[in-house]
Amino acid sequence: MARFRVGLTGGIGSGKSAVMRAFQALGVEAWDADDMSRVVVEPGQPALAAIAEHFGPQILADDGTLNRPALRHIIFSDPSAKTWLEQQLHPLINRELRQRLDAAQTPYALLVSPLLFETGQDQLVNRVLVVDAPESVQLSRARQRDGASEEQIRRIIASQMPRKERCSRADDVLDNSGNLDALGPEVQRLHHFYLELSKS
Ligand code: ADP
Repeated sequence: MARFRVGLTGGIGSGKSAVMRAFQALGVEAWDADDMSRVVVEPGQPALAAIAEHFGPQILADDGTLNRPALRHIIFSDPSAKTWLEQQLHPLINRELRQRLDAAQTPYALLVSPLLFETGQDQLVNRVLVVDAPESVQLSRARQRDGASEEQIRRIIASQMPRKERCSRADDVLDNSGNLDALGPEVQRLHHFYLELSKS
């Protein structure tokens, strides 16, 4: 069981997934909160039934899965719907994450979440690593990756914790403003540091 847990967070396009993959390449187990948010609304899960009851059956696609674009549309235009949904899902997502982190077989495990602080998931970890890049870099990387407009990415950045505040709450900050080659040695250094910390 992994006694030591590191939370990995950062704004959209900062490089969380790239950093997660670099840790995984070193054999570290990592769990992504975004993946768990899909797991808890799979068909057969109680949360999906609760969502269908709350928003009506049209929130389900013909095959019984969640109609995500329809749900996104509702919560985008109705803040109270967003709050209700978050209150339903966050405890379930956290429970899934806790179970997986408990079962991890590596000396330490990673919890990757864009909203680690916003959702209280920082309570599930011993230490927080923030991946950081200037907003202009976040914008161009996220736009290239998602094919999204500048306005869409800016809206997501505005909905997330301000960069300065996120960094000030971090235990460690990984500067990902350089190229991908620069990431490897930084992740190696942190990996050895976390291995040491996990012993104590
Ligand atoms: P996040 O998970 O934080 O949203 P990603 O890890 O998906 O961000 O990175 C966003 C995009 O930028 C991806 O296409 C990724 O391959 C690329 N990327 C990440 N870090 C770097 C880097 N240091 N140099 C160049 N591209 C990068």
